[in-house]
Amino acid sequence: MNDFASDRNFLFQGFPAHVRFGRGKIGELAEACASLGAKRVLLLSTPGRRDLPERCAALLGASAVGIFDGARMHVPVESVDAAQAAAEALSVDCLVAAGGGSTIGLAKGMALRSGLPIVAIPTTYSGSEMTPIYGLTENGIKRTGRDQRVAPRIVIYDPDLVDGLPPETSVVSGFNAIAHGAEGLYAKDRNPIMSLLAEEGVRALFGGLRGLSGQPDVATAARDDCLYGAWLCGTVLGSVGMSLHHKLCHTLGGSFDLPHAETHTVVLPHALAYNAPAVPEAMAVLGRALDVPASDVPQALQQTATALGAPSGLRELGMKESDVDRATQIALANAYWNPRPLEEGALRALLQRAWAGAPAAN
Ligand code: NAD
Repeated sequence: MNDFASDRNFLFQGFPAHVRFGRGKIGELAEACASLGAKRVLLLSTPGRRDLPERCAALLGASAVGIFDGARMHVPVESVDAAQAAAEALSVDCLVAAGGGSTIGLAKGMALRSGLPIVAIPTTYSGSEMTPIYGLTENGIKRTGRDQRVAPRIVIYDPDLVDGLPPETSVVSGFNAIAHGAEGLYAKDRNPIMSLLAEEGVRALFGGLRGLSGQPDVATAARDDCLYGAWLCGTVLGSVGMSLHHKLCHTLGGSFDLPHAETHTVVLPHALAYNAPAVPEAMAVLGRALDVPASDVPQALQQTATALGAPSGLRELGMKESDVDRATQIALANAYWNPRPLEEGALRALLQRAWAGAPAAN
């Protein structure tokens, strides 16, 4: 049983990021960069979203000295090498990362080497902008770590920029963010502040995701709510440790090349059902956030994700049934803390259900 009495015995470390939130806030980019003393800014994006750094460059004027649009999923070190070479050739003193977790991840890979400050302008709900966590892929192996140098110094959340996020991407990105808040509620090093943020973040995201297909004014307000929830849940991810769900998704993404946000969406109800007997208080908080009984939390998440068009099983993401055994072994191989001990048979059953898209159960 998870010892929730420890909620009156905790360590809280404030996260120093400077956050500007609201529609039109991208207009404050030049002021934000100037506040860091930036005179030569390199703008980063994925190849498909070069329009974003071009818009930022127009706002920055002469201090925008270059655009690197080679950000890629899972941050291959080759992309960091190329971007870093561009930064050095241009004598850059600040990075602006406009995009999702992949673009922000590239900026983090560069900051890890150079110490350059990052201004992040997130356009998905991944939450990476609020964390000191980086991931780098070398020779097909992704390693992650924590380093305060990679935590963005300023984050500009402008919901205007997520208006164009395709609905299917919005839904899985939103469930990725809900996963940060949900696991934060039973983190070994949880604290009351992060638990408050997690509950509010999950509530904002769950309501927002269901409003995305509403009338235009409803959908616009829903996107505001989703980005607000993403900020809160990203802060939780950056502040307390994650458990079974995030470890499983890391294993599945890295070993079977499964897409990040989609994998989170499929696995979350199953991981929560597994942990539920060990964390009744966290499930009660989640039930309050979703407005369902605590016992229905995994099913409510699963049914809502599917109703919103998200994939329901890992098989839809390209995983083979014969990989379930290997995934179980990899998940067991690296010991990590989880509120319910890892039991091989139950873990295998979890992964089998997640693969098939079967109802979440414990
Ligand atoms: P992503 O950044 O790969 O973006 C997915 C696609 O959507 C890209 O093609 C991108 O160009 C496009 N896109 C982004 N914003 C858009 C918009 N507003 N409109 C239209 N298209 C848009 O996806 P992601 O889920 O944000 O990030 C996933 C990556 O982030 C993974 O590598 C994951 O490991 C990492 N991540 C890291 C952390 C951390 O704390 N380090 C946290 C969460 C995720």
